[in-house]
Amino acid sequence: SIAAEKILQRKSLQLRNRQQHWQESPEGQKMVEFRRSLPAYKARDALLNSISQNQVMVVSGETGCGKTTQLPQYILESEIEAARGAACSIICTQPRRISAMSVAERVAAERGENLGESVGYKVRLEGMKGRDTRLLFCTTGILLRRLLVDRNLKGITHVIVDEIHERGMNEDFLLIVLKELLPRRPELRLILMSATLNAELFSSYFGGAPMIHIPGFTHPVRSQFLENILEMTGYRLNPYNQIDNYGQEKKWKMEKQAIRKRKSQIASAVEDALEAADFREYSPRTRESLSCWNPDSIGFNLIEHVLCHIIKKERPGAVLVFMTGWDDINSLKDQLQGHPLLGDPSKVLLLACHGSMASSEQRLIFDKPEDGVRKIVLATNMAETSITINDVVFVVDCGKAKETSYDALNNTPCLLPSWISKASARQRRGRAGRVQPGECYHLYPRCVYDAFADYQLPELLRTPLQSLCLQIKSLQLGSISDFLSRALQPPEPLSVQNAIEYLMIIGALDENENLTVLGRNLSMLPVEPKLGKMLLLGAIFNCLDPLMTVVAGLSVRDPFLMPFDKKDLAESAKAQFSARDYSDHLALVRAYDGWKDAERRQSGYEYCWRNFLSAQTLKAIDSLRKQFFFLLMDTGLVDNNTEMCNAWSHDEHLIRAIICAGLFPGICSVVNKEKSISLKTMEDGQVLLYSNSVNAQEPKIPYPWLVFNDKVKVNSVFLRDSTAVSDSVLLLFGGKISRGGLDGHLKMLGGYLEFFMKPSLADTYLRLKNELEELIQM
Ligand code: ADP
Ligand code: MG
Repeated sequence: SIAAEKILQRKSLQLRNRQQHWQESPEGQKMVEFRRSLPAYKARDALLNSISQNQVMVVSGETGCGKTTQLPQYILESEIEAARGAACSIICTQPRRISAMSVAERVAAERGENLGESVGYKVRLEGMKGRDTRLLFCTTGILLRRLLVDRNLKGITHVIVDEIHERGMNEDFLLIVLKELLPRRPELRLILMSATLNAELFSSYFGGAPMIHIPGFTHPVRSQFLENILEMTGYRLNPYNQIDNYGQEKKWKMEKQAIRKRKSQIASAVEDALEAADFREYSPRTRESLSCWNPDSIGFNLIEHVLCHIIKKERPGAVLVFMTGWDDINSLKDQLQGHPLLGDPSKVLLLACHGSMASSEQRLIFDKPEDGVRKIVLATNMAETSITINDVVFVVDCGKAKETSYDALNNTPCLLPSWISKASARQRRGRAGRVQPGECYHLYPRCVYDAFADYQLPELLRTPLQSLCLQIKSLQLGSISDFLSRALQPPEPLSVQNAIEYLMIIGALDENENLTVLGRNLSMLPVEPKLGKMLLLGAIFNCLDPLMTVVAGLSVRDPFLMPFDKKDLAESAKAQFSARDYSDHLALVRAYDGWKDAERRQSGYEYCWRNFLSAQTLKAIDSLRKQFFFLLMDTGLVDNNTEMCNAWSHDEHLIRAIICAGLFPGICSVVNKEKSISLKTMEDGQVLLYSNSVNAQEPKIPYPWLVFNDKVKVNSVFLRDSTAVSDSVLLLFGGKISRGGLDGHLKMLGGYLEFFMKPSLADTYLRLKNELEELIQM
């Protein structure tokens, strides 16, 4: 142990020399200078002091002030300066993969190192981390996973939880676990970082932990609300010309009456605010235009118009447009590319910025364009706080973010663009004043802003809790409800109950809420329980390849593109992959296999182009598949013998059955009517298929059931990808798979039988049971 001590000391001294050497080099000095110009630098000593004296601390500060890149680095540097460098181990969690990776890269560069030396990162299924990595940026999920095998975080000296103001589910969960861990690890330090001023909430959760606020240096930003924009530019809103953000495919063709009906569906606070609003001081033209404003629309044309105004009339400076999501960004980008309204295309640099973007694409966002070129970045709300684009002068805020919410009563997740909070709107506006005074165009009236909630509802209160509950069990944290009742803001008991019931139905928990063997295996796989179940069964039944494709496709995103103006062509291209087997999942498998073949013939891109497939998504699916394979090797379920793992991969019935096993109880009954197909689920009654499902094109579906992986309540309930299955498949593969469990099976399925009044299913069951019993007696 004395020898170990010696080695540690030697390493610490090496680290110190290296750091000094870099800081004294010309490049290093430049970096040091830049870093000293950040607002966080003034608080450096106070921060380090507070960390040494308190176990928990809350830091808040304007986005861009240097929390994420500087604070973890201050700790690392001061440990290294004190010759304790080799003994410290700092973990800083990020809610998103993209920020964990890009921040680690930035911090390594600021220290004049390569990634994987003293600074590294780790995100799901990917990482750059060396034996001597002392500062690790990882997603919150990764730290939770580490707690699985290392309950006391042995060897970790500092945990920094970043972006807590977002109130993500994982972060809220992690805080409960850490709060209970702190007394067991008195020397462990916990630092919470937030971009907004709601530090008190977190401080009081940790018994009044000290707070430090880093004042920022932002320039003033002028806010323009919709009424000012209309007044200033004389633009006339036209109800026929706003794109509906629900269907996303139809142009708005609505009667006045229908608009009124729509208005009654928006959040009542916003509606009341609009009703009471007084626009008398504005011109008749503006007032008329405002009355045509459709609060449910993202208003592509309005955005286009505002961009046109900025390009033609405003001073130079980059523009940041906040959109609701990836699909909106893509459609708007398509629409804007080369648009005559925006003038000379060589003078406009149009970029997208969202969570699933490749890192090469990412870098373009931060680069300053040539003089005279206007940079326009279309971003999701991740540009609110996680990344900083320094040259932004103009912000366009559509006022919405796509937010998952969860209807516990109907046990249905909803994904709707919904109004952001005041805190978010302030953040968005603040992005404009980084280098000089800025302008923010809010595409909604002032009165609507006034009706926004102060903060967004925490994710724990608006999403299904299945994966979380599984994790609570595998971390041995006791009763799920008791544990969650200790959260910062505990979720509804009904949501918790639904999640527990779901886990029991799929066989991950037994009746006493104990983890089953299946549950334990599922908790090790970094995918949702239903997807994990498909992977495990794919491995057990030797049809791994197709199921890895299905699961990878469902966890990345749909590779089938549905461009706005070529929807019919795209749909028929997709239908070609279905070969009458009534399954979006099998269509995906075929599309992927075809692409792999084409890649081997060097014609992957042509194949994608011809079939309306995204090469980028297919590549992401490909790499995820490889990682699944290694993970399953780790669990010992498969070995290197890929031929063996795929002995049954050609058997579509088997694949269908396993998809059913994974997706159950996501089932709906199919009744073929004269002119249409009627679909029903137990919870929602009548449901519809998304128009891009292969099953939506079929006049009849010759199967009694569809299993689906996702349903979303928009105005009706829509099912995303689905696969048709037969009675016997549902009977044998739906629900738990346990030895001698057929009777339990029927009991559970009984509810479904009764509800759907499908006597044939009961008959099939009896026949199967008799046959099995005969077999056993033989
Ligand atoms: P915070 O976490 O407080 O929002 P950051 O630590 O992320 O702030 O960023 C601090 C500053 O460092 C930013 O304002 C920006 O000037 C600079 N910075 C951050 N990331 C990069 C990067 N990848 N490239 C260049 N500069 C960066
Ligand atoms: Mg940050």
